[in-house]
Amino acid sequence: MRVVLAVLFLLFASMTSAYADDEIPNLKIQKLNESVYLHTSFKAVDGFGLVDSNGLIVLVGNDAYIVDTPWSVEDTEQLLEWIMLQGFSIKGSVSTHFHEDRTAGIQYLNSKAIPTYASESTNEILSNAGKAEATNSFVNDDFWLLAGQIEVFYPGAGHSKDNVVVWLPNQKILFGGCLIRAKEATNLGNTNDAVISAWSGAAETLQSRYGDAKLVIPGHGKVGDVSLLEHTRELAADKL
Ligand SMILES: [Zn+2]
Repeated sequence: MRVVLAVLFLLFASMTSAYADDEIPNLKIQKLNESVYLHTSFKAVDGFGLVDSNGLIVLVGNDAYIVDTPWSVEDTEQLLEWIMLQGFSIKGSVSTHFHEDRTAGIQYLNSKAIPTYASESTNEILSNAGKAEATNSFVNDDFWLLAGQIEVFYPGAGHSKDNVVVWLPNQKILFGGCLIRAKEATNLGNTNDAVISAWSGAAETLQSRYGDAKLVIPGHGKVGDVSLLEHTRELAADKL
């Protein structure tokens, strides 16, 4: 009986407190090249364990643009502090779909009068869920956050019906967000809001449009090359 109780207790303890707050790693910022930084935030997610989430800081001269907010308000504050400490001026953010790992910091950015952007579709979902919306929205599949520098493109549904990607033409960097899976990922990840039937087609659209990408950044996991597009297409096609 004692053993059973002890086992039950351990099981319960491991279910309820897999990660204490102080075990969640701090926001990580890593330089990808002279004008692009990767920001990675962490969260303990039920059923997945500790999950990392990627976003970018894109510099154009001294101006900084945030691609996806970190996964919490605290980490978004940290990110802003870091950007300001470098002497950069924050011009805006864009969120690549409605999930929290892309949008948790929108309200905070809004409170700091930093222009936030999302597609009209993303804003609609946020609004229906009672969450803070981006202050600016776009409707076209192809939207330039900054002309000639930062393109936001909708390749069709996949991870979610509103997922967009961000292309930096001058450096040939594609930020795929959660639509694109890391090389080490053996499945599609969180598919709660996915449109599986459209996912492989969206990956193909990216392959034909951004086939010359030098770096491809997935929403979660390690930065890779253009082969992540084919990897994702195959993972999604397997589910059809
Ligand atoms: Zn998502």
